[in-house]
Amino acid sequence: MEKKPFVTKEQLEEIAKTYPTPFYLYDEKGIRENALKLKEAFSWNKGFREYFAVKATPNPFILKILQELGCGTDCSSKTELLMSDACGFSGHDIMFSSNDTPPEEFKLAYDLGAIINLDDFTHIECLEKTIGTIPETICCRFNPGGLFKVATDIMDNPGDAKYGMTEAQITEAYKILKAKGAKNFGIHAFLASNTVTNEYYPILAKILFELAVKLKKETGADIKFINLSGGIGIPYRPDQEPNDIKVIGESVRKVYEEVLVPAGMGDVAIFTELGRFMLAPYGALVTRAIHEKHTYKEYIGVDACAVNLMRPAMYGAYHHITVMGKENEPCDHKYDVTGSLCENNDKFAIDRMLPKIDKGDLLFIHDAGAHGFAMGYNYNGKLKSAELLLKEDGSVQMIRRAETPKDYFATFDFCDILKNVKNV
Ligand SMILES: *Cc1c(COP(=O)(O)O)cnc(C)c1O
Repeated sequence: MEKKPFVTKEQLEEIAKTYPTPFYLYDEKGIRENALKLKEAFSWNKGFREYFAVKATPNPFILKILQELGCGTDCSSKTELLMSDACGFSGHDIMFSSNDTPPEEFKLAYDLGAIINLDDFTHIECLEKTIGTIPETICCRFNPGGLFKVATDIMDNPGDAKYGMTEAQITEAYKILKAKGAKNFGIHAFLASNTVTNEYYPILAKILFELAVKLKKETGADIKFINLSGGIGIPYRPDQEPNDIKVIGESVRKVYEEVLVPAGMGDVAIFTELGRFMLAPYGALVTRAIHEKHTYKEYIGVDACAVNLMRPAMYGAYHHITVMGKENEPCDHKYDVTGSLCENNDKFAIDRMLPKIDKGDLLFIHDAGAHGFAMGYNYNGKLKSAELLLKEDGSVQMIRRAETPKDYFATFDFCDILKNVKNV
C-alpha cells in the first residue's frame, strides 16, 4: 500500500516557520479513528479495555486523548506511573506490567491502586514484603517457552525471553496468592512483537484461554480478565499488508466462544496493551536535508539523527521516507540518509531509492509515532526535538518543547562548574 503523509508540504513549511526542524508531528484524527476501530472490534466483550503502553509514546497530551476514548495506561516504571497519575488515570485505569521490578515501584503502583501484573513467581514475596499485603486484584504474566509460530512461520522466541512464568509457576502462584487473600485474577502474556498478521492475537488468545480454564480448575481462582498485551504490528514497508483489527477482534471472539464460554467463563474481560498499533502510523519525524555528500556513496545529511529516532540504528528497522513535494517524482536516486552522530549506524535509510533530494527539502519519516521519540537519548550531546500535535481542525499544538542546552546540563545543577553555561 502506498504510504502517504498525513500533511502536505505547504502545511509542513508553515509549521516549520514556528517550530524549526527536526520535530515530531502526531495526527490526532488518525489516533482517534484508529482507537475507535479497536474499541469497536472488541465491543462484543463487555469488559474490554485497551491499556495504552505508555512507553511507546510517553506524552501526557497523547495520554489525555486516549483517556477520552476510554483507554487506561500500561506502565512499567516509576515515571510512567507518575505521568499516568498526573493525567488523572487512577486505580484500575492503570495496569502495572513491569519486570525486574524495583520494590518501591510495586509500592507506588499499589498506592495508586493500579492492577499489578507479576512477572515472576518470586515477586509474590517481594510484593508482600514491600506493601505488607497481597492486593485483592492481581495478575500473573505467562511464558509458555519454546517458539511462537503462526502456521510454520516463527514469529518470536518466548523461550529466549526474560518475561513471565512457566505454567507450573503460574499455577503455584495462583494457589499462593489465593491463600494470601487475592480474589480477582488476571493472566497476561506478550509472546511476539510487531506481528503483521491477523493470526497472532487469536493464537495467543487460545493459549491463554486454555490456560485460564486449567488454572480455574486446578486452583479455583476467579479469573476476571485476560490481557493479550501488545504485539499487534504495523506495516512499516509499503508492500506489507496491514492488520485488520475487525478480523482480529472477531477471531478472538471465536476462540472465546470455543474455549471460555463452554467452561462457564463467558464473563472474562479482554484487555489489550497496545502501543505500536495505537500510535506508530500517526506520528512522523520531520527533518530537513541540510547536506549532500558524494564519496563512495551518495549521502543526504538531515538535521535529525538517531537520537531522535533510534529504530533504524538499533534494529536495522525500515522507516518509509517521503520527500515532501516530490511524491510523484521517480525514485531514481540511491541514497544513504544520515544524521550527524559520530556513529556510522546513524542512518535513517541505506541504499534507499528516492527522488532527487535537494538541500532544504523536507523529509517525512513515517511510522515513528510509537517507540520513536520515546527511545531518544542524548549521545553526542544531541538534544531531543519538540513534539507537535496536528489537531482535527488543522491547527498545530506543541505538546513537548524541544530540549535546550540548559536541559542537557541540568543534572550538573548540584555544582557550579557549569553555572556560566550559555543557553543558546
Ligand atoms: C512494550 C509493551 C507493550 C506494547 O508493545 P507494542 O509492541 O507497542 O504493542 C505492551 N505491554 C508490555 C508489557 C510491554 O512491555
